[in-house]
Amino acid sequence: MSKFKLKWKVFAFLLGFCALLLVVLWLFQTVFLTDMYKHIRRQELRQAVLMVEQEIDNPDIQTILLYLQAENDIIVTPAHDFAPPPRLSLPPDREMPARRSFIPEAITQTEDFILQDGSTISLTFFAMITPVDATVTTLQTQLQIITVIMILLSIILAVIISRRISKPIEVVNISAKLLARGNYDTQFNGRGFLEIKELSDTLNTAAVELSKVENLRRELMANVSHDLRTPLALIYSFAEMMQDFPDEITPGQVQTIMDETKRLTSLVNNMLDISQLDTKNIELRKSSYCLTESIKSTIDTTAELIKQDGYRIDFNSDEDIYVKADELKITRAFYNLLINAVNYSGADKHITVRQSVSEGYVKIEVIDNGDGIAPDDLPLIWDRYYKVEKKHKRPVTGTGLGLSIVKKIIEIHGGKYGAESGADKGSTFWFEIRVDEPGV
Ligand code: ADP
Repeated sequence: MSKFKLKWKVFAFLLGFCALLLVVLWLFQTVFLTDMYKHIRRQELRQAVLMVEQEIDNPDIQTILLYLQAENDIIVTPAHDFAPPPRLSLPPDREMPARRSFIPEAITQTEDFILQDGSTISLTFFAMITPVDATVTTLQTQLQIITVIMILLSIILAVIISRRISKPIEVVNISAKLLARGNYDTQFNGRGFLEIKELSDTLNTAAVELSKVENLRRELMANVSHDLRTPLALIYSFAEMMQDFPDEITPGQVQTIMDETKRLTSLVNNMLDISQLDTKNIELRKSSYCLTESIKSTIDTTAELIKQDGYRIDFNSDEDIYVKADELKITRAFYNLLINAVNYSGADKHITVRQSVSEGYVKIEVIDNGDGIAPDDLPLIWDRYYKVEKKHKRPVTGTGLGLSIVKKIIEIHGGKYGAESGADKGSTFWFEIRVDEPGV
């Protein structure tokens, strides 16, 4: 059944519904008709008795009895006398049951009523029962016609409903098949009813997201293959030279191999980091720690490493600030900014790190006096693999991932980040996160 087309399912459902309806109709209109009719007449008779009881002393009792006879086909006569009192003057066609050549069926009830003067009058109520056999035959014929009409209507309705429902589903299905084949431009135009419209919207969003992932994958492949190929080619050529001319190995060549290997390692690490940061619901190992202390320690370690190249890093901070954050990640973000400042610093090789606090947020700025970034490039540098085409001060080429890692880390901490720079003006890169105020 589950594999049947919608049309047949709707048809079966409608037919079932009609069958149920017809069975109920048959039961009530033929099988139970006489019983129900008698039941209703019995109730009418009871009501008539009540009415007469209330109005027995009414001077207009004759009119009431006439009304009962005309409206409800209930005849009231004195008990033991089947003939109605002459005062009632029944319509000529309304013969009394006793005088008929045959006695029609009637439900009778005899009641005693006490009049105002204390006397008792006994009345018999006749609720006439009209034979329903003829009616049943008529109804049966009618029901046969209705059954045929209902079946035809079910078929027509099933076709119309299934068309209305299945058409938009079919349209969406065709588009979904195109999407499955990798056609990410596919548009879903589900119309007809709300659910289909929502499904289309969801699929449109899914198509956009899929195309983004696909673009990212292509971009990643292109970038990674480019970034891997160059250092690998360099390493290979130097290694080949070393094999061919072992006596001519220079420290510079060895250094190049080491630098390139380092770069490859950092590229792979960065890629791992970014893919980890990309996973939704990333778990932050937050703890309350002294950011000032942590920044200072990172600066000290970095300064130690680059001291021999003549770099100087100053740290300005007024107080020890505590934050509730993932220390490893924030250190990573800061390190990326610091190492960029070193890589792109100016001839003075001087970098300043500044800590300031304002409105519950601590801001860390990394300032260099390098060539700066052109205004056109400034908004793009936070994108993945974006590198401003320009010579680096140090022989290390970047991966284009450093700033996007900073961006991600600060974003998941609910902080802000930014950069101010201009060509030949040096750059200030900064981020800010909430200060951990104990008791808040
Ligand atoms: P990379 O590994 O290339 O440094 P990043 O994502 O860290 O990748 O930086 C992206 C681009 O932003 C860099 O290629 C560089 O052109 C520019 N940039 C980053 N920091 C600075 C800076 N302090 N001064 C000048 N340019 C910078």
